[in-house]
Amino acid sequence: MGSRAVPVNALPGQGSAPCAICGAARTRHEAVSGPTCASLACRTRIAIQRREEIDKADQNVFRQYVEQQDAAMRSCGDLAIRVPFMDCPVVPLPERRKAAFRQSLKKYLRRAFQAIGTDESVSDDGEATGDPDAQASAPLRATCIACGGHCCRQGSTHAFLDEIYLPRLVRGRPGDSAARIYRDYLARLPRESYSESCVFHTAGGCALPRRMRAHICNSFSCARRQDAEKQLSEQQPASVFIVAIDSGVVGSAAQVTADGHMRWLRLKPIEQVEPSGGNERIEPDEQSGSTV
Ligand code: SF4
Ligand code: SF4
Ligand SMILES: [Zn+2]
Repeated sequence: MGSRAVPVNALPGQGSAPCAICGAARTRHEAVSGPTCASLACRTRIAIQRREEIDKADQNVFRQYVEQQDAAMRSCGDLAIRVPFMDCPVVPLPERRKAAFRQSLKKYLRRAFQAIGTDESVSDDGEATGDPDAQASAPLRATCIACGGHCCRQGSTHAFLDEIYLPRLVRGRPGDSAARIYRDYLARLPRESYSESCVFHTAGGCALPRRMRAHICNSFSCARRQDAEKQLSEQQPASVFIVAIDSGVVGSAAQVTADGHMRWLRLKPIEQVEPSGGNERIEPDEQSGSTV
């Protein structure tokens, strides 16, 4: 009986540092993949640690930024709020991402129609197809505007049109065939969208009308926005200073009054990457005011 060859990457990595979490010796493959061993527990732990470190760094940047602005302008608002920031280039939607979306939609449409046929689909209770911000205060609406939709990154190439959310949308379109719904979604795919976000996430916002978005898209509120909502309702400030930060960098900052006047103090241009690789930057009018 011959001995089985051991893949070279599975050999203990001589001289490589042990797992940063559990201290176990690591294979060469593990050593080049990151600071931990391959165990899910260690990889999860290090991901949480990194997220906490980034959050701490963002909070420091937030404090410094608010202090600087206060010094320069006396005060930018009665309440300073930190939100995430959507920071990645806008690119022509690659064919490979479109194909992944088509595949995902086809799969979940088939399942949704099967579920409806066997009456296993979820009920429409709590369906959200309207604008969740319709009743929100202007400063609260401005949190998502300043952020630019960091949460949409999770939409990836499925846009949450999956086995949880798609059946609800299908039930809301009685009489429409799977083929028709499929075509409707494909027709809405934008020419350009953020490179590391949902395929429908464009520089101008979501390319889907609300009635075609998953329930979660019409109802989600991140922890930062929830905090802001609480602070706004407790303090009822006359004006708010919103600072959007991603990985220690201030992406945008705006002053918003309770009556909805929004003044940008900083707005990082969205990077546009052309297919040729050339970059073009859009210069914002940083001081212009608008109404939320
Ligand atoms: S819910 Fe949070 S992450 Fe999503 S757009 Fe609003 S502020 Fe950004
Ligand atoms: S469908 Fe629209 S709202 Fe939902 S994740 Fe994609 S871009 Fe965001
Ligand atoms: Zn480990």
